[in-house]
Amino acid sequence: MYAKLAALMCMQCGSCIASCPSYVATGDPRYSPAGRLSLLRSRTPEDVLCELFSMCSMCKRCAYACPLGIDVAEVTRQVRDALVKCGFVRGRVLPYVARVVENFLRRGNNMGMPQEVVVLALHAIVKKIERERGEAPQVFVCTDSGYVDAYTQQDAGAPRRPALLFPSSSDIFEFEDALKGYIYLLGRLGLDTVVSARVADTANYGYYLSESCMHKIAEMYIEEIERARPALVVFGECGHGWHVFTRLVVPSISRPALHVHQLLHRAVFKGTLKLRRVELAQPVVYMDPCNYSRSCIPLVTEPRALLKELAGRYVEMWRDPKESVCCFGGGGLIAPAMLDIAAKYWRAAYGNFDAGTVVRPCATCKAQLKRVFAVIGARARVTGIAELLYAAAE
Ligand code: SF4
Ligand code: SF4
Repeated sequence: MYAKLAALMCMQCGSCIASCPSYVATGDPRYSPAGRLSLLRSRTPEDVLCELFSMCSMCKRCAYACPLGIDVAEVTRQVRDALVKCGFVRGRVLPYVARVVENFLRRGNNMGMPQEVVVLALHAIVKKIERERGEAPQVFVCTDSGYVDAYTQQDAGAPRRPALLFPSSSDIFEFEDALKGYIYLLGRLGLDTVVSARVADTANYGYYLSESCMHKIAEMYIEEIERARPALVVFGECGHGWHVFTRLVVPSISRPALHVHQLLHRAVFKGTLKLRRVELAQPVVYMDPCNYSRSCIPLVTEPRALLKELAGRYVEMWRDPKESVCCFGGGGLIAPAMLDIAAKYWRAAYGNFDAGTVVRPCATCKAQLKRVFAVIGARARVTGIAELLYAAAE
């Protein structure tokens, strides 16, 4: 087991401590990677394990600071898995994560929306695009009873060149312009946008809870992809979702699959899609989501090239994408009960943070930063790349 091996290998050199957001937030060495590993070498009560490991944002910064490359995010995953197997789901984070996972397993999305609500929400989005752009795009919604046209809400025939899009459920309600951006892009590329009301979310919170839940959710994606047999699978902006998707879903499907940034990048640089510049409040700051810069398939070149195309000048938040600092919403720390600690962390890490526009293309990061910035009084607008794409649409 990786967790045991990591605990035995750790030399307690302390090189990882300052890199850990939960240590920065609390100032308590027990909440550092070294502190967590030392707990595993002794008999530690479950409630202490639960408290300390539920405060890990699974950002993987420690893995890059450690001379042995010990990845405490992976240790956290295994410890949480063991706690869940013993029925120990307590504290401020794990019960929240368990509820989100339960929603996904029951309804196919983290908010627990029934299929009719997904259809209604997509209908509202298509109508808004029609009002804003003068033309309604065709969006097919895949339901238990077949395809539904999002505009008419009536049965639709099968799409001709289906692109099965997995947005985040917060794109459906909180970051609508991101979803409009995906729909616009697919339409311009001659693909029919299909959103499944059965599996309508990119974010796999099973990753934060337990091995079996993570695999069950991954299986739901795989089944849906094999059922819809799309020409292309398109994955929306979600960092940890991308990490799990590339590890567990992509190797098991027979259809081509791309992150929306990869697809957009190809289209722009082949000249298939022309974009105009978007005026943004300056300075525009790019921040890598943890799981784009430190996940198994890094996504660092494409978003930067697209941002340059869309916004012109921007500044890097960190010298190296691998240094990117967590939004402190990963690992389920986006739970409302943790907002005060996240705000404390941002104050400690950044002081009086100010920017015109923060670009951080991950649904969890955006949701977390919006809330944290409101609490700490930072004025920056937070956006992803997909929202900018929609603003750039002719
Ligand atoms: S994964 Fe991130 S939060 Fe967790 S121990 Fe490592 S640095 Fe700290
Ligand atoms: S840097 Fe690595 S070896 Fe050193 S204390 Fe941290 S986890 Fe242990």
